Amino acid sequence: MKLYSENEIVDAVVIGTGAGGAPLLSRLAKAGLKVVALEAGEHWEPSKDFATDEVSQAKLFWTDERLSAGEDPLHFGNNNSGIGVGGSTLHYTAYVPRPQPDDFHLYSDFGVGVNWPIGYNDLEKYFDEIEQFLGVSGPADYLWGAKHKSSYPLPPLPLNGAAQLMKRGCDKLNIKTSPAANAALSAPYFQKDIGWRAACTNRGFCQAGCTIGAKANMDVTYIPLAVYHGSEVRSKSFVTEFELNNSDNISAVVYSFNGKMQRQKCKNVFLCAGAIETPRLLLINNIANSSGEVGKNFMAHTGMQVWGQFEEDIRPYKGIPGGLISEDTHRPKDADFAGGYLLQSIGVMPVTYASQVARARGLWGEALLQCMRGYNHTAGINILGDCLPYPNNYLELSDEMDSRGLPKPRIYFSIEENERRLNIHAEKILREIWSAAGADDIWSYNRNAHTIGTCRMGNDQQKAVVNSEGKSFDIPNLFIADNSVFPSALSANPALTIMALSLRIADCFLDKMKHR
Ligand SMILES: Cc1cc2nc3c(=O)[nH]c(=O)nc-3n(C[C@H](O)[C@H](O)[C@H](O)COP(=O)(O)OP(=O)(O)OC[C@H]3O[C@@H](n4cnc5c(N)ncnc54)[C@H](O)[C@@H]3O)c2cc1C
Ligand code: SF4
Repeated sequence: MKLYSENEIVDAVVIGTGAGGAPLLSRLAKAGLKVVALEAGEHWEPSKDFATDEVSQAKLFWTDERLSAGEDPLHFGNNNSGIGVGGSTLHYTAYVPRPQPDDFHLYSDFGVGVNWPIGYNDLEKYFDEIEQFLGVSGPADYLWGAKHKSSYPLPPLPLNGAAQLMKRGCDKLNIKTSPAANAALSAPYFQKDIGWRAACTNRGFCQAGCTIGAKANMDVTYIPLAVYHGSEVRSKSFVTEFELNNSDNISAVVYSFNGKMQRQKCKNVFLCAGAIETPRLLLINNIANSSGEVGKNFMAHTGMQVWGQFEEDIRPYKGIPGGLISEDTHRPKDADFAGGYLLQSIGVMPVTYASQVARARGLWGEALLQCMRGYNHTAGINILGDCLPYPNNYLELSDEMDSRGLPKPRIYFSIEENERRLNIHAEKILREIWSAAGADDIWSYNRNAHTIGTCRMGNDQQKAVVNSEGKSFDIPNLFIADNSVFPSALSANPALTIMALSLRIADCFLDKMKHR
């Protein structure tokens, strides 16, 4: 890997190496720029460092304390974000459906939420590019949304137990289903400038990290591509501060490495630390916030799960966890709410399942053990749906300090009438699917997941933190590219859209450089 001196003024520092940071890192490096990525976590070697063991793999999650407030306080840790080179993709389930074109204009359609300053057409070529590069496995023709210009490069992965049962229930109810688009390989795949990646062995522990690199985490895709093109990736480097020059540009980024403070001089900064750490860093440094919108408009997808017990031996830990999808509920005709949701089957590891049972059903001790005896006969479906931005859902700095002496973030979250109505609509359908599939002991778990918003992208600098190209309205050489810039939640899993935004932000930046 190429190494840069801290005194060299590099073209760009990229903070965070997840779905937002890694694609643009590779794009900038490929264009010949001198780029350094600073990543708080470790650079793991999957074949040596990852295990089929949920407890040891807790190292993949961001577990620094986040204070959770509001009427529906969120569960952070393994419900939300990751740490390490690859960020949250190290443990994501790799469901990668595209958002539908109308997801980008919720306000025009319903008069609530906001429109995006860009549309599906602005991201379409990036969806195509990313799907081909990652080696997404999926159906030849996807049933919902805009027609894709190119088919997924690989056929779908086999359906696991929950996916087969969900299909049985949906078929009986005439709900259309499809094998999901999954960023995991159904066959060995060659990636230019990287080499071959192995096919998925259906080990099923995707959320504990993939030991063989079949799942398209950033650490086996865009990060090696970035390194191939000359980028440096500095792991265990926790950014704390930005130094500004007289023209209000960032001139250096300060970070701690092995307990020692270091600084990297740079011409541009791409902040991609995720929807909690990105606004937290900006608020700590008191920059890029003339709009007062940093930390505001926090959203988390509605993610209700409904579980059932079956006679069949399901073994929910086996096979790719993200198997079957339905988007028939994208904008349901009988809805009394704005937006919509999709349905996805779930695979689940045993400790994760036990903690959900404890939280949702209040079971503990012998009662929890008894319930876990049925684990191998359990199957779940969850929704992934819209969540509107509200003024009372936001992130602030608390007066409690973390081990580095930095203020811990406090996140307020409450769902409101729109989310309540959407959940009622979804729960009814999910219960019907499981009844039709033959389940008993059906129960639901009302949850929200993914951290979204907090540094909104928009055209009006009074109401947004960055413009439609990810550029700060206040600091000319600061760009943000991660889940924080989403103006609305989109009723689709976020990672593919984050990657597409990341490449678009890099291309807009490179284009401006060319014409400077
Ligand atoms: C269990 C689980 C399953 C999921 N499954 C799916 C799925 O199937 N499909 C999907 O689309 N999405 C899924 N998601 C969500 C998805 O993984 C995230 O939305 C997405 O990866 C977020 O990307 P990001 O770039 O915004 O942030 P991240 O990927 O979290 O990257 C931020 C990076 O910044 C680093 N960082 C933070 N602060 C600093 C600092 N001060 N200095 C240096 N580095 C810093 C972090 O260590 C991290 O590596 C899942 C999430 C979870 C928790
Ligand atoms: S199921 Fe496939 S993609 Fe997931 S961890 Fe196992 S081998 Fe990797």
